Amino acid sequence: MRHHLDALYRLLTPDAPPAYWLMGSDDLPKELILPSAAFTGRNLDIAYRAWLESAGRWRGRSAVIVLDDSGVRNALRDGIPAETNFAGQLRLASEIHQVLATAIHEIAHVAELGIDTSEAPDVKYEQVVAAMAVCRAETKTARYPKQDRHSPVWLRLVVHAWHRATKAHYTVTPENIFPDRLGPTPKIANAILALHPELDALLNVPLMELCHVPAASAFVEMWKFKLSSWRKRQLNEDAEADRIVAEYLQLLDAHTTTAAPIKLPTRGVA
Ligand SMILES: [Zn+2]
Repeated sequence: MRHHLDALYRLLTPDAPPAYWLMGSDDLPKELILPSAAFTGRNLDIAYRAWLESAGRWRGRSAVIVLDDSGVRNALRDGIPAETNFAGQLRLASEIHQVLATAIHEIAHVAELGIDTSEAPDVKYEQVVAAMAVCRAETKTARYPKQDRHSPVWLRLVVHAWHRATKAHYTVTPENIFPDRLGPTPKIANAILALHPELDALLNVPLMELCHVPAASAFVEMWKFKLSSWRKRQLNEDAEADRIVAEYLQLLDAHTTTAAPIKLPTRGVA
């Protein structure tokens, strides 16, 4: 599975150093796990450095993506040779499809957050564990959980990532990348329609540089409509909802009025 993920990552972020794909089946330390099918973070490599070193896998700073691959493992563990059992084959295919969809979701987060390759700060393991505990607690108590709200930057990146993967003959259902949720983020199917005019035109712009190119206006309009209708459904006095709306509107403004002119790229995709 890991070499499929490496290939997908190379396709979507050809200029980035290879990511560390950490799987549930890697037997990761419990204190470094977040309650989610997958997660990444800009400095997650620092958290996992000691573990990666002890596993002989550390190659310097890069993105870390943690994926729960238990579905694939369970499908493989059925004990029925997949090639002789159509149902087993189908189940394995759908589990692999879900892992790839989740991988595209996380790669868009990596492109959104950027990769920190500066010298790693000297942190103690206890500090790492404490920071992960804070993340875990926030995930549990959040009024608007992170998985329900994804930023305009991420949504645009994930649609471009999905489109590029599709061009390379990955067949991934968009709703498996980002299921429809009740949060402030528009449905991925609507985002695909809104971004349609720019998807092929910007194929050669690296994902991490897309933020310098203004987004299709239909995408910005779709977001503004969704944010306003979502806000109306929340409580009148709700500082957290106000903060989310303000933050996303600001990101959308930056995405429309960016100082960089639209320049059609001349560099090829490696
Ligand atoms: Zn996410």
